[in-house]
Amino acid sequence: GEGLPRPEQTRIMVVANQKGGVGKTTTTVNLAASLALHGARVLVIDLDPQGNASTALGIDHHADVPSIYDVLVESKPLSDVVQPVPDVEGLFCAPATIDLAGAEIELVSLVARESRLQRAIQAYEQPLDYILIDCPPSLGLLTVNAMVAGAEVLIPIQCEYYALEGLGQLLRNVDLVRGHLNPSLHVSTILLTMYDGRTRLASQVAEEVRSHFGDEVLRTSIPRSVRISEAPSYGQTVLTYDPGSSGSLSYLEAAREIALRGVGIHYDAQHTPTGS
Ligand code: ADP
Ligand code: MG
Repeated sequence: GEGLPRPEQTRIMVVANQKGGVGKTTTTVNLAASLALHGARVLVIDLDPQGNASTALGIDHHADVPSIYDVLVESKPLSDVVQPVPDVEGLFCAPATIDLAGAEIELVSLVARESRLQRAIQAYEQPLDYILIDCPPSLGLLTVNAMVAGAEVLIPIQCEYYALEGLGQLLRNVDLVRGHLNPSLHVSTILLTMYDGRTRLASQVAEEVRSHFGDEVLRTSIPRSVRISEAPSYGQTVLTYDPGSSGSLSYLEAAREIALRGVGIHYDAQHTPTGS
């Protein structure tokens, strides 16, 4: 690892956007791998019944594997389901299996239905620098569990038409959870994904997002890259699949920015760090 500053407490980042296909899972796994390669200890919690994050990390998640479903619904300790990610030291994953598709309904009748993930994380004793939670494309009880467990929301935004559509609903949900269940919840990070600098549209969307959200938007954006989209079918992140690719370098840079922001160092537009 490169020796970036480590957070004093575990930073729990909820990767959310109720739109599908905006890069939540891709961002979760590649950012997590980047942080681990920078020397951090990182846990990915796969909270999407599709289990795409588990697949992308090369983690076994067939129906019999102990999974985050057992944690949420059966109160199994998180330590019973966490698996080390092959090939990336310091990276771990709590996989999702297809069971999780029923959890949204099953949780409704359980006590403390909104805070079951939070409790499981609080009882987990392994030291971690970051927990990244990959949310499903909806704002139901699974996403609420993530928002109660974490302090930071990371929103990936795809540089496309209608990029900002639906964000109002997401932000209102963040406000509701903050008001009723988790006073420390806030949107800390916005990441522009699938950015194609050659198109006017992408730069217009980026400008719009930056003027709307300001400082929360990372200076680093993630380019559209075939290597990024190929990696999951090999059960790998782009960081091990093609370490020198632009996709790899951009996620490493985004991870660096996130780690530095955690200790109060921001980048200016020229990409040089400035104190804040
Ligand atoms: P979500 O989790 O929000 O549904 P995904 O991370 O699964 O979105 O991404 C949706 C699709 O876009 C996937 O096929 C993924 O491989 C692809 N993708 C994501 N980010 C990039 C990128 N930077 N360049 C190219 N393809 C990408
Ligand atoms: Mg996903």
